[in-house]
This record gives sequence, structure tokens and C-alpha cells, in this order.
Amino acid sequence: MIYLDNAGTTKMFEQCIDVHKHFSCQQFYNPSALSAISAKLSVCITDVEKFILQNLGANEGNVLFTSCATESNNLAVNGSLRNGDWEYVFSLGEHPSVFNVAKKLQLEGRKARFVPLCKDGTVDLQALEEVLNEKTRFISIIHVSNETGAINDISKISEIKNRKCPKAILHMDGVQAFKKIPLSLRSSAVDLYSFSGHKIHAPKGIAGLYVKNKNALKQLFEGGGQQYGLRSGTENVSGIMQLSKAVEMIDEKANLQKVQNLCDVFNKNISSDIKILQFGLTQNMHSPYIENLIFEGVKGETMLHALEKAGVIVGLGSACSAKKAGNRVLQELGQDANQIISSVRISFNAYLTEDEIVKAANIINQTYQMIKTKVQ
Ligand code: PLP
Repeated sequence: MIYLDNAGTTKMFEQCIDVHKHFSCQQFYNPSALSAISAKLSVCITDVEKFILQNLGANEGNVLFTSCATESNNLAVNGSLRNGDWEYVFSLGEHPSVFNVAKKLQLEGRKARFVPLCKDGTVDLQALEEVLNEKTRFISIIHVSNETGAINDISKISEIKNRKCPKAILHMDGVQAFKKIPLSLRSSAVDLYSFSGHKIHAPKGIAGLYVKNKNALKQLFEGGGQQYGLRSGTENVSGIMQLSKAVEMIDEKANLQKVQNLCDVFNKNISSDIKILQFGLTQNMHSPYIENLIFEGVKGETMLHALEKAGVIVGLGSACSAKKAGNRVLQELGQDANQIISSVRISFNAYLTEDEIVKAANIINQTYQMIKTKVQ
């Protein structure tokens, strides 16, 4: 089976299993307990926090460990709400774990403003500039789109934010960016940054939220006051240590080159009657980890099931929205309904081989020919 749905989730590094065993069966203590053995675990968590900060390219702030990026995103938005006549700004390219929160805020009578995307999938910076003002309390912009792979430019967004509303809180959803593309939050205006373990070969159930200034965020649930009082609940020590292991094992620069090469090989081997959509190319802001294929005349879902039988797993966009009709982000980019219904998301990881990629492309070509002939 060749797995090409790595934006959905990734295969966990086997090395994480030993870490899990150690921190679940041997060092299984509660890091908040008073025993010396527990205190050591608390130090381990702090060390991982520092290590993640380094990997985010941040030289200040903290990392909160959460159960998934859906939680991180909800915490970022809801933890930044304040009473008063504030405006909350969201790009139209947000993942449902931000977008649906934004819609809910609107229903609750808060002022949510939405920023459109350019045709290449990146956020329309001119529109962003027009929306931001001194009433803007919070801005959320996805770093790399999980649907299209388009990359939003942190430094340009930071410059606009600093100029138009320096006091606003800027959140970026970095789930498809962290450990995949170069990242440096150091000189940016980013206050909050979400990431998720299972997208980078760590287990499911562990994720994080970078927080530049702890005082600017409010906790979502009451409890024992763990993690600076911002995310109560006993820390998932094993998950945190496994996340650290995965982060340590990933050389994102080398991986990015490998994935770029795999993506090029794949595209060269895909037959010309299958349309390849790569977003963000016009501004050189495309992540090679994600692209879309259009199978004219055949439903993406039909292709997905046929490909699975033939040995290739692909995706239909965000796993969280895969069961819902249509694709909000592709629609926003002006793709017509037929194209959207015929689209499939391909997403790579750096540990695939060129042989697997060529094989997958051939299977995709053959499967499409076969189904197209049947349909006609
Ligand atoms: N944000 C983006 C951009 C994603 O791609 C995903 C998962 O698909 C999420 C958030 C949610 O991540 P999790 O599955 O950890 O909740």
C-alpha cells in the first residue's frame, strides 16, 4: 500500500514506541506530584518546551501541550476573546477548527471579519490590510493550507499587522508547516502558533500551542492549574516525550528537498489528462507536501475508493471535512463545482521512495483510464 494522504495523518516513527513504553510503564508518574521522581518528569517537560521553542525559531514565550491541534486552535481563538466592541479577523482559508469557531462567534453576535484568498490560494494581503484597524483584537491566518499547500508569508503578514493594529493578537495555524518548511517566529509578530504531533510522525493525541505572552491568553477550562494555568489537566508525558523524539528525528531542510524531488517525480509521471493543481506557485509560496489532482469526468470519491483497491491511499481534503459535500477552500479559489467534485488531495512524506512514487503515479494513471472508459 502506498500512502499519499500525509496531510491527513502520518505513520508514527517506530522509535516513539520505546519512548512511550519508558514514559508509560517506567516513568509513569504524575509530573505535578510532590515526589522527587515526579519533579524529574516536570523538568523533562520543561526541556521539551525549550526544544520545541528552538524548533519554532522562537526566543521567547512558552509552549502549551494539548490533545490535538483542533484544541490548540480553539484555545487560541476562544482564549483571546474579550468583552467590548472588538473585531476578530479570519482568513477564508482556515481549517474547520478555526473557521467553524469564527462562524460561531458571528452567531453569538461578535464581529467576525473574513479575509478572502487570492486565486493562488494565499491570503489576499491587500484585503487583510483593509480589514485591520484599531478595533482588531485577534487575527487568525493558516500558515500552510491543508487543502492546497499554499504558504502564507509570515513576515508580510507581520509587517501589516504591526502597522495596522500592533496590539492585536496574531494566531497562525502551523499544522502543515511545522517541521515541514523553514520557520522562524523570532522576528515575526506571531503571538500564537498551533501544531500537531500526528502530522509529523509523532502519535495522535499530542499537539501544541506556542504562546508568546501568557498574560494575553485565557484558559478554556478550570482545573488543577497545570501548564501555567492555561491548560489544566495532567500532562500527557508520554505524548510530549514522543513528540520531542519525532521533532528530533526530522531534518526539515533535507526532508523538504526530498519531498520537492518526490513531488517533481510524481508530476512527471502523471499522465497529461490528469490536471495537477499546485497553489501558491505564482509567488513561490507552495509547499510540495500537498497538491490536488483533477480527474475530469470522474468523482474524486470514486477515484479514492478505486485507488485504495489498487494499492494507493489518497485524500479528499481535510479529514475533518472529507465527509461533508464540497470543498470550501477550493470553492473560494473559484474552482468550478465539477472540478471540485473530481478533485483528490495528494500529500507526501519524506520517507517515501522514488520507486513508490513512480508506482503510485502509474497506478493512478491506469485506474483513471479504466474508470473513464467505464463511465463513457
Ligand atoms: N489545522 C490544520 C491546518 C490541519 O491540517 C489539521 C488537521 O487536518 C488541524 C488543524 C487539526 O489537527 P488535529 O487533527 O491535530 O486536531
